[in-house]
Amino acid sequence: MFNAQQTATATIDTAALLHNYQCIKNIAPASKVLAVLKANAYGHGLVQIAKALPQANAFGVARIEEALELRQGGIVQPIVLLEGFFDKQHLPIIAANNLQTVVHNRQQLEALEQADVEDAIQVWLKIDTGMHRLGIEPDECAEFYQRLRQCKVVKDNLRLMSHLACADDLESEQTRHQQQLFEQITAPFSGERTLANSAAICAWPECHYQWVRPGLMLYGIDPRISEGALPIDLQPVMTLHSSLIAIRHIKAGESIGYSAAWQAKQDTCIGVVAIGYGDGYPRHAQNGTPVLINGREVPLVGRVSMDMITVDLGVAAKDKIGDHVELWGKNLNINRVAAHATTIAYELLCNISRRVKIILR
Ligand SMILES: *Cc1c(COP(=O)(O)O)cnc(C)c1O
Repeated sequence: MFNAQQTATATIDTAALLHNYQCIKNIAPASKVLAVLKANAYGHGLVQIAKALPQANAFGVARIEEALELRQGGIVQPIVLLEGFFDKQHLPIIAANNLQTVVHNRQQLEALEQADVEDAIQVWLKIDTGMHRLGIEPDECAEFYQRLRQCKVVKDNLRLMSHLACADDLESEQTRHQQQLFEQITAPFSGERTLANSAAICAWPECHYQWVRPGLMLYGIDPRISEGALPIDLQPVMTLHSSLIAIRHIKAGESIGYSAAWQAKQDTCIGVVAIGYGDGYPRHAQNGTPVLINGREVPLVGRVSMDMITVDLGVAAKDKIGDHVELWGKNLNINRVAAHATTIAYELLCNISRRVKIILR
C-alpha cells in the first residue's frame, strides 16, 4: 500500500490570529493597533494576514514593495513604512497609494520639503531614545517638528515614535530610560505617540500610548525572555508540519547523514522527515531539537539537509511512512526549537521558504 505523504506545509489558524489580536486589545485597551506585517507577515502570508485583520487600525511594513502588494491585494487600511522611504522618487507613489511614512533622517525631511505631490502624506517622526539604530537625535526634534509642520505635502497631525532595544528583558533598566526620555522629548509637541512592540505591550504598560505596534505576539508567540513573566494566553497562528517519508533500522555504532555527524549508541529506528533548510527549517538545529511525531516528542539527530531531517524514533517505534510530523506550532513551542538552533522565533518564521505550502484555516 502506498500512503500519500505530505511535504512541508504551514497551516495558518486565523481564529488564533483574531484571538491574539483580542489579547492585545485587552492588554492595551486605550491604544490603536498598528499590526506589523513586514517580511511576508513574519512568514505567514502578507495579504491573507491583512485580510484576516479588518479591525486593525493600520498595518506596518518595512519596504514599499510590501505596502504596494497590500494595496494590490485590496487592503484599504492605512499602511506605515516603518523605515520611511529610501528614494525621493517614491514620494509620488506614497501619496498616490495613501501610504504613511516614518521620517528618521534629514534626507527624508529635505525630500518632503522639496516634494510636489497632490495628496498630503501622514508622517511619523522617529526619535532615537537609545537604541541607536534609526531616529533623529533628541535635540533635533524641535527643528524637525517645525519644518515638517511647514511642509505643504505633510499632514498637520504629525505622529511621534521611538523603538525600544530591551523591552523583552524585565530586568533591564534601558526601557525605563528610553520611555522617560521619549516622554520628556515629546512633551512639548502635540500628536499621537507610539513606542511599544510586542514585548513592551506585554511588559511595560507605561509604553502603550495612543498606538501599539505588535508583530510577534499577533502570531501567537510570547516575546519575553525573562523568566517569571506572567503567562499570556497567546495561540500560535502557524503550525509547520510534514510527514515521515522513510524509516530506517540502524545498528549501534552506525552513523546518520552528512559528515556522519551522529552515531547511534544502540540499535534504533530513524525516521526521515520531508523538511529541511530548503523549506526554512534551521540548518543549525542541534541534535536533540524536539520534533513531534504522532504527538510524541522525539529528538532530531544528525545534520539538517536541504530537503530532509532525521529523528531518533527509538528501537520499538511503531511509526509508519506517511505519519504526521509537527516541527513547531500548536503542540510544540517554536521558542524551544529556536533555542536548540541558537536563534529566535522571528528568524525561523521569516525563513519559511516559497516551497512551503501555506494553508489558511
Ligand atoms: C518589527 C517592528 C515592530 C514589531 O516588533 P515585534 O517585536 O515583532 O512586536 C514594531 N515596531 C517597529 C518599528 C518594527 O520595526
